[in-house]
Amino acid sequence: MTTRDPDEVLARLRELRASDAPTHGGRVLSYVYDSGLAELDRLAADAAELVRPVNGLDPTVFGSVAAMERDLIAFARTAFGSPEAVGTITSGGTESCILAVASARRLSGLAAGHGNVVAPSTVHAAFDKAAELLGVELRRVPVDPHTTRVDPDELAARIDGETFLLVASAPNYPTGTMDPIAEIGAMALERSLPLHVDACLGGFALAWWPKRTPPWDLRVPGVTSLAADFHKYGYAPKGASVLLYNDRDRHRAGYFATADWPGYPIVNPTLLGSRSATGTAAAWAITRFLGDDGFGALVADIDAARAELIATVNAIDGLRVVGEPFGPVFAVAADPTSTHPIDPHRWSDAVRARGFTLQAQPRYRQADGTDLAASTHLTITPVTRRSVGELSAAMVEASRDARSLPPIEAPGPLRDLAAAFDSGAVTVADALGLDSVTTEAVLIGAGIDPHTDPSQTGEAIDIGAVIAAIDVLPRPVTARMLTEFLASYTNPAPEG
Ligand SMILES: *Cc1c(COP(=O)(O)O)cnc(C)c1O
Repeated sequence: MTTRDPDEVLARLRELRASDAPTHGGRVLSYVYDSGLAELDRLAADAAELVRPVNGLDPTVFGSVAAMERDLIAFARTAFGSPEAVGTITSGGTESCILAVASARRLSGLAAGHGNVVAPSTVHAAFDKAAELLGVELRRVPVDPHTTRVDPDELAARIDGETFLLVASAPNYPTGTMDPIAEIGAMALERSLPLHVDACLGGFALAWWPKRTPPWDLRVPGVTSLAADFHKYGYAPKGASVLLYNDRDRHRAGYFATADWPGYPIVNPTLLGSRSATGTAAAWAITRFLGDDGFGALVADIDAARAELIATVNAIDGLRVVGEPFGPVFAVAADPTSTHPIDPHRWSDAVRARGFTLQAQPRYRQADGTDLAASTHLTITPVTRRSVGELSAAMVEASRDARSLPPIEAPGPLRDLAAAFDSGAVTVADALGLDSVTTEAVLIGAGIDPHTDPSQTGEAIDIGAVIAAIDVLPRPVTARMLTEFLASYTNPAPEG
């Protein structure tokens, strides 16, 4: 439907936005990072609007981009303890991770089809993506399933002649645990391997953390690069991250440049060509406005809310905080030592019924056969402090609702499919060989119909059932089904 009335166009968009999860107010404890400062959001929007027509592809033509990037890199390298560091502003964490791997890969001199990256098994899936795109192997080294900490000796044991990069997280996403970066750094130095610290999640919170942090940043001997997302605890709208290097040549190795085609000379520090400067401008404006004091005050709010919520979980019989999280996120799992362990996904469903959306994480089987328990993830933002009493109460009440309930089961047809894999009647190769029409039919048969729009039917997708399905099916099959689901969900339904 077209209309010449801009108000009508925008009215429709407002309607669409009304069906979104709330981005503000601390109701959703993942994906969004609300400072709770309305003036900060306005400032970011105004800054983004000022540079909206600019193309970040060429900072020599659009000098504002170069100036903002210099300021952001200066800000970040001071925050992360390396006044001499150099770096690149990227569109987000995934792009920073891919570039960190690409630059190390290029410097390694390994031939195509060779090379591996060694990291604790809790490292972000962006590194799986980087490995797949670059044709290298990611070796996820099992962590202690209880503490979720990695033993640096076990990391060392997976290193071989084709290892070109070590990665550690500060902290990791699934459990909020800090990897032992000082020890891993020492090990990296001994072996002359680069060490990238993924601080995409927590970097801009840890830098102002009110308590003594374990060593984690560019000051740690052996650390060669570090990335942190402005669009997480830098409170910027999506589209800004920074990737810093202690070494200029490592940084340059991430660039793509060519003058060997008939068009304009290309110099790309990032994966994109033409790129928006809006994320950069928003992040730039926010760092100018907040400064050290502003970041420090917001982090104090996060720490206070986090402490209260962790105390709440610790007081609930049947739940436990996973491992020893440090920083702004943590995860909650069933307490196996309790006589009434609570299923964390039943619990998050019950919390959602009380107005707060937490993020379900499936069980993860590590390479050594041990499991990281199914859990529920909480990202704490400054605004959480305002509703911490209400959220705590919801968490306690939800535990009563969830206590007597068994874990959520996958839909019957997917359980049948899982049984067919177990008995060998169907193989993973069979399943991956199905075309998308058949794969979609399997999903629809299981009651997961990508063409029912929850904003129309008012029926949210049953995340508990989806997570339960992930748990019973072979993971490559799940990945295939997730692809099919999202591709169908974001495409118009077939006509007729
Ligand atoms: C969010 C995150 C990433 C990926 O960042 P995106 O901005 O979502 O692309 C990488 N590592 C960690 C630890 C993260 O939390």
